[in-house]
Amino acid sequence: MSEHRRISARVAAITESATLAVSTKAKALRAAGEPVIGFGAGEPDFATPDHIVEAAVVAARDPKNHKYSPAPGLPELREAIATKTLRDSGLVCSADQVLVTNGGKHAVYNTLLTLLDEGDELLLPAPYWTTYPEPVGLAGARSVVLPTDAAGGFKVTVDQLEAAYTPATKALLFVSPSNPTGAVYNRDEIEVIGRWAVDKGIWVITDEIYEHLVYGNNEHHSLPVVVPEIGDRCVVLNGVAKTYAMTGWRVGWMIGPTDVIKAAGNLQSHATSNVANVSQRAALAAVEGPLDAVHEMRQAFDRRRRNMYAMLSAIDGVVVPEPQGAFYAFPSLEAFLGRRYGGVTPTTTVELAGIMLDEAKVAIVPGEAFGAPGYARLSFALGDDDLGEGITRMSDFLTG
Ligand code: PMP
Repeated sequence: MSEHRRISARVAAITESATLAVSTKAKALRAAGEPVIGFGAGEPDFATPDHIVEAAVVAARDPKNHKYSPAPGLPELREAIATKTLRDSGLVCSADQVLVTNGGKHAVYNTLLTLLDEGDELLLPAPYWTTYPEPVGLAGARSVVLPTDAAGGFKVTVDQLEAAYTPATKALLFVSPSNPTGAVYNRDEIEVIGRWAVDKGIWVITDEIYEHLVYGNNEHHSLPVVVPEIGDRCVVLNGVAKTYAMTGWRVGWMIGPTDVIKAAGNLQSHATSNVANVSQRAALAAVEGPLDAVHEMRQAFDRRRRNMYAMLSAIDGVVVPEPQGAFYAFPSLEAFLGRRYGGVTPTTTVELAGIMLDEAKVAIVPGEAFGAPGYARLSFALGDDDLGEGITRMSDFLTG
């Protein structure tokens, strides 16, 4: 008998994506005829703009797109991403600093596998997006989780970073606007964190996928633009998913120093090769085109954000900072743990979310998925009526 385990230890340690799990269960219930309202989705509820879809249709008919293309991305797309990055965030980069990946998720994976060695530590402010810790573990490295809370606006401080720093610290994972909290760091906060990283000589991986989704007086600032000295040890993650309502097309990218991009490109060349050419052509039309669609979506999201925030804040016991960016609210539901619902007494937000889905037919993602038990994530990327109905049901369920 072989002594080998069936599933390797590193892969066995990977958990199912909790955000996807909730939306899958909600979809299954809905398919079974249940009137479920889902706050789980991490995607815009809009269709991809027509001019982008048209570019894909044309591309699909062109035989040159039926063949392999360069693994790091179509040269014209890498060039266009460099141009778009300068236009949108002011970061100067060249096409050979861009690697086109299968979605932003794949950019996260490539980056962490390329930078982290066995025993390295990654500073990871929590609540964190559920995907980040998994490739860290696959690389044999360790996530050092830095908790933040609603009272502090879910922002990590340099004191926390300093206290967590060890000689094994290789990198900080920074994201603003944040999934799952909707927090947006201002320029000064970014500058202090960026300077600290420069002083320590560590890397910064900055996820800018929500760059265009900021509300009110908030502005998005790209960390390597605010602190250019980090340039040689900084990777920017981005993609078309959120800005152009293109989650299903699977195009993202990473921007970094050429040695990192070359190494990550080698990794990608053996894993996935080029991203589907039709999707790359669609992404090209997206990044070369106008930002009108995202401006319209932002207006709708902003309206829903204000509704959701007002309704959640009105529930006795809910503590929630006003989301400043992305499309998520992240309330604390701590006050409701230990209460009795339909004969059950949930003591964790996982249990509470399960009972709420069964009883009130409302799907939320428990904070455990983001390293933040006691909280939950609610996406406001859904229609206004559903949003109102869903929060009303949640309120009735929690306080009824
Ligand atoms: N980064 C963050 C912070 C995200 O929320 C997401 C999507 N949920 C991604 C990256 C990746 O998006 P995609 O793989 O769909 O491009």
